[in-house]
Amino acid sequence: MLKHHRLEHHFVRHLPDVLEPGLLYVSMEYATASHLCCCGCGEEVVTPFSPAQWKMTFDGETVSLNPSVGNWLQNCRSHYVIRNGKVIDAGPWSDEQIAVGLAHDRAARVEMFDKDGSQSATAAVPQPTPVRKQSIWAKLKAWIE
Ligand SMILES: [Zn+2]
Repeated sequence: MLKHHRLEHHFVRHLPDVLEPGLLYVSMEYATASHLCCCGCGEEVVTPFSPAQWKMTFDGETVSLNPSVGNWLQNCRSHYVIRNGKVIDAGPWSDEQIAVGLAHDRAARVEMFDKDGSQSATAAVPQPTPVRKQSIWAKLKAWIE
C-alpha cells in the first residue's frame, strides 16, 4: 500500500542528505532524482537518468519518471509509476518479475561497461589495423595448417 499518492518535485543542484517524504528531488546537474519510498517505509530511492535507467519528463507543471520505480531490493518491494506528479501503484513484484528486473538491470550495466570498455580500448590502441591484420593472418595460418 502506498502512503504517498503524489510527489511534489523539487529541482535542486545537490540532492540533500535528509529527504522529506512526498517530495521528488531532481538534480539536472547530476542527472538523477531521489525520493523516499512512497510506501512510507523511509527508504531512499535513487533514480539516475540515463538511456539504460530512468527518463525524466517535466511538462512545466509536473514530473514523470519512466520506467516504473521497483524497489525490489527494499523490504517493502514497492512498485509504482510516477506520472504527472502522481504515484500510481503498479502492484507487487512477483519473484519472476524481480528476476527479470534484475537481469535487465545487469544487462543495462554490462552494456554501459562495454561501451566504456570499447572507448578506452580504442584510445589505448592508436593503430588497431596491424593488430587486426595479424589476427587474420594467425587465423589463416591456423586454417591452412
Ligand atoms: Zn517502501
